[in-house]
Formats: sequence, structure tokens, C-alpha cells
Amino acid sequence: MKTSTITPNVTQLTRFRFVNAFLVREEDGFTLVDTAMRAADALIEAADVARAPIRRIALTHGHGDHVGSLDALKERLGDAVEVLMPELDARIHAGEQVVQGKLPGSWPKLETKPDRLLQAGDRVGSLEVVASPGHTPGHVSFLDTRDRTLLAGDVLTTYGSVAVTNHFYWRFPFAAMATWDKSKDVASARALRALDPAILLVGHGPPVRDPGRAIDAAIERAPS
Ligand SMILES: [Zn+2]
Repeated sequence: MKTSTITPNVTQLTRFRFVNAFLVREEDGFTLVDTAMRAADALIEAADVARAPIRRIALTHGHGDHVGSLDALKERLGDAVEVLMPELDARIHAGEQVVQGKLPGSWPKLETKPDRLLQAGDRVGSLEVVASPGHTPGHVSFLDTRDRTLLAGDVLTTYGSVAVTNHFYWRFPFAAMATWDKSKDVASARALRALDPAILLVGHGPPVRDPGRAIDAAIERAPS
């Protein structure tokens, strides 16, 4: 697992060179944003190295490469950790049909039930929950209110250049293949741009500092 310090409060953890999770520092320990897959031991070790426990696991969405280590983490950390998942994606995982038709992307079976369902405007420590549906029905992003670092999940990817996940992009085609609603996804990209983030962090790709113009260009290239 590759570890990169992004801000004084945020560390990016990269698994298999293509999927990111993030440790966000709070007074009582870490919020882990997303879990990659088969990464529980490595994620716990990264928190140990940074000398604080994982207190919460907050998920941007329900796809397998983001929830993939959740059950193993829950098994290791038990009740010491609170699990937070966007409401619609949690209902999908619970077997509910929340939208018409088949959902693209991987929705592995989860044993772990979330302790809290996330809605837009909720707070998770210093993070504000921002609705960003489209890639999945319930997808959320997290804005660190301390310094406007944005954790945008799979609304955007940043390999090569910033791209909206609503259309094929050769540098990382998997995200678009897993996207549920193309027009909602680009509308979410616009909403995230309007937050004027200082740093853009995503599920797949490196951090982008001062990302405004790069996100504008990505929205420009994306079909509406
Ligand atoms: Zn995804």
C-alpha cells in the first residue's frame, strides 16, 4: 500500500496502484474514507503508523472497490468503529430495488450493516457530506471544512487529466463502465466544482491541487 501525505489532516492510501482510500484526521482518531479491496490489514497498519485509531469508516458509494475491505475491517475493529454509508447505496446493499433496471458496477454482498445513513449536509467530523449522485444512485462526496479538500469518490478520475466518469476515457475506462446515470453524474461534477475545492482527491488517480480549471475542462469534455 502506497501512503502519501496530502494535507496535515489527510493521507491517501493507494492499493494495487489504482484504488484509493483516505485517512482523515480528527481529534479522536481517523475517519477512513472508502476501504479499497483486500486491504484491511494494510489500512489498519497505516493508521497504526500514523499513531491513531480508525474511529469511523465513511463510504462514498457501494461499489466493490470502495467497500471491498469493509467486512474484514469491521471484523478486526468491531464496535470501536462506526460505519457510515450513503442512504440509497445502503438500501441497494440491503437488497432493495431503489431504481429501475439493472445497476452497473460491482455490488458485492456485505455482512456489515451501516450504523448511520448519510444524507447531504450531514457532518462526519470535519467532513461535510455533499450529494453527488450519478456514478451510483446514492454517491456522496466529502468536503473537509478545514481547508476545502474535496474527496470526490468516483464522480471524477484524475489519471492523465481530470475526467468525469460519465463517458469513456481510455486512461481509466472502468469508472465509466460502472456509472449508473450519465447526466446526473456530470451534474454532480458541476456541483462539486461549485464548491471551489482547494485539492481534489478521487477514488482512482493522483491528487490534484487547485483543480478548478481542470474540473471545468473535464465538464466541458463530458457529454451532458
Ligand atoms: Zn465506483
